[in-house]
Amino acid sequence: MSGDEVMPGFTGEKGAEAMALKGGCFCGKVAFTIEAPCLTAFACHCTNCQRLQGAPYTRYAYFPPGAIKPDTGSEEFAAKFNSSENLARYHCRVCGSPVWGVNSAKGFECMGCPIAALERGPDGRFLGGEGIKLNGHVFYDSRVADVDDGVPKHAGYPPEAAAVDFGAAFKSG
Ligand SMILES: [Zn+2]
Ligand SMILES: [Zn+2]
Repeated sequence: MSGDEVMPGFTGEKGAEAMALKGGCFCGKVAFTIEAPCLTAFACHCTNCQRLQGAPYTRYAYFPPGAIKPDTGSEEFAAKFNSSENLARYHCRVCGSPVWGVNSAKGFECMGCPIAALERGPDGRFLGGEGIKLNGHVFYDSRVADVDDGVPKHAGYPPEAAAVDFGAAFKSG
């Protein structure tokens, strides 16, 4: 099962206000700034994410197309890997950290990043990322670990996704 084919459901959560979020990789060669509010957030349990992130599941925050911008000097260190036709995943060439992804599926265009890649303070706490609300667990059927957090679980993407105009939702973000 793959989570790359379509964009996950959008539940209308507009998330953090206008403050720009920042993020980056482990070694610091790749840094980015997010110039739009978070549209929604999901934890993905698909096998692609499990293997590519080296984790049971990954929490992602989603943003409008073009919202995640590499900081000056970072672009040359960001390597691209297409895990499917419409999903380009970027990681740091030096340390390997996943940094962001670009979904180009028609009507589902957006960018996403692992919430874990967002900036923290010296004590390890999130700086702004804590305002991002998780709206669901997707591809939960291929989980390698149960999660008992009260957040809705979906076998694929959320059923309400079918009723959402993703294009309008993401472009209005
Ligand atoms: Zn790095
Ligand atoms: Zn996934």
